[in-house]
Amino acid sequence: MTLPNAQPKASHFIDGDYVEDAAGTPIPVIYPATGETIATVHAATPAIVDRALESAVRAQAQWAATDPVERGRILRRAADLIRDRNRELSVLETLDTGKPLQETLVADATSGADALEYFGGLAADVTGTTMQFGGDWAYTLRKPLGVCVGIGAWNYPTQIACWKGAPALVTGNAMVFKPSETTPLCALKVAEILHEAGLPAGLFNVVQGMGEVGSALTTDARVAKVSLTGSVPTGRKVAAAASEGMKHVTMELGGKSPILVFDDANIDDAVSGAINGNFYSSGQVCSNGTRVFVQDGMFQDFLKRLKARIGAATIGDPMDEASNFGPMTTQAQMEIVLRHIQTARDEGAAVHGGQRLDRDGFWIEPTVLTDLTDDMTCVREEIFGPVMSVLSFATEEEALARANDTQFGLSAGVFTRDLARAHRVATAFEAGTVWINQYNLTPAGMPFGGSKASGIGRENARMAMDHYTEAQTIYVGMGPVEAAF
Ligand code: NAD
Repeated sequence: MTLPNAQPKASHFIDGDYVEDAAGTPIPVIYPATGETIATVHAATPAIVDRALESAVRAQAQWAATDPVERGRILRRAADLIRDRNRELSVLETLDTGKPLQETLVADATSGADALEYFGGLAADVTGTTMQFGGDWAYTLRKPLGVCVGIGAWNYPTQIACWKGAPALVTGNAMVFKPSETTPLCALKVAEILHEAGLPAGLFNVVQGMGEVGSALTTDARVAKVSLTGSVPTGRKVAAAASEGMKHVTMELGGKSPILVFDDANIDDAVSGAINGNFYSSGQVCSNGTRVFVQDGMFQDFLKRLKARIGAATIGDPMDEASNFGPMTTQAQMEIVLRHIQTARDEGAAVHGGQRLDRDGFWIEPTVLTDLTDDMTCVREEIFGPVMSVLSFATEEEALARANDTQFGLSAGVFTRDLARAHRVATAFEAGTVWINQYNLTPAGMPFGGSKASGIGRENARMAMDHYTEAQTIYVGMGPVEAAF
């Protein structure tokens, strides 16, 4: 099959236009389903980074002074354009990541559009508070931070650009966004569409590059905030570097999230939740519930149904809308996941699936690990691939203790028909986002983010606007000023 042309007009998008600087290190863009190179971009040179930041600084003050309703209107127009071009953007997302078109048509550009529309609608609702002190009073304003940097992971390149860009822009900031070096294409389209919707030049710039470009942006004195989506080790580095400059941070990092399935749960819903929470996007989802604890009475039946459902997966050409399971996004990630599966085998796990598929590209079967103990590597470490660990438990207390026994705290899920238990367990989870009888749904109006090592701050919902603004307090003296002398 001939693939659509994926080569962007140029590597970067700065000051309202595509910009090239071929002096930067070439970065091949590889289609994960076949392993072929479909485009090449160049990493940003220091000159490109400087140009992006300069244009952001230039544009931001005027933007902050723009009527928020107008800011919101531009974002909502961009949302409409994204929806109009959903198929084209979904194909690009599939080329960039390898995720099946069946997924990208409903989960990527559409999720980005939701964020732009949601925040666009809230534009005029960024408000402070007032406080009365006798006759005197004080009020707070929410002020934009200035130039914000967004750094993306490779699993959701369109969504991440929009989830960071929308709240930043609507509150009057400019953004310089660096996509992951392995999926550099989609954010360029987001920038193009934002400008087509009327966003003034310089407010959403995209520069390509590896970690060193992200690092140059993070440490630049012109930058007020860094929002990273990435792994915990990268998060530690970026947060440490940002703290040197006393910059604001949002850290959306990795996880090893638990799903607890109680005996009284609707078993088919629970199996569906576990499938969605492990095999969607071939398991490359930060919030995945990769430790599935099933109560003793349901354990065997759960496994039987799970394996039968996995057998019905349509693993194939991501561009074929009938396919519902695609490749890993990179060869390197495929190798990491295969190593994890081998380690699990070596440590005594029973492996269902676990093979690399004999075809071009980076394909691994959906995999289920059983015969596990909580201390095994596959149960403790994030694998970031289609690998589910299934464990059994006896009591609620035991399951919760085991679920929370991890450095991570991104997400968690519970399946039960017992209302009181559902809420008791949900609130006892040490996790930023919890689903009851559902998994991995992230509507734009709902805060999303992690606790413990999984992150700082929240994306989406009104909360995200707080993370892109800071309070200024203004005290108003209404009477005479008294002094000691
Ligand atoms: P990664 O940490 O390797 O890279 C993330 C981004 O950080 C990339 O753009 C990379 O170039 C950049 N980077 C690397 N070193 C840097 C440095 N020193 N300074 C600044 N930037 C630097 O992550 P990845 O492999 O792209 O993505 C997978 C990870 O992301 C997983 O751990 C996954 O759980 C996590 N993730 C989290 C969320 C979330 O919302 N919590 C969403 C998606 C992915």
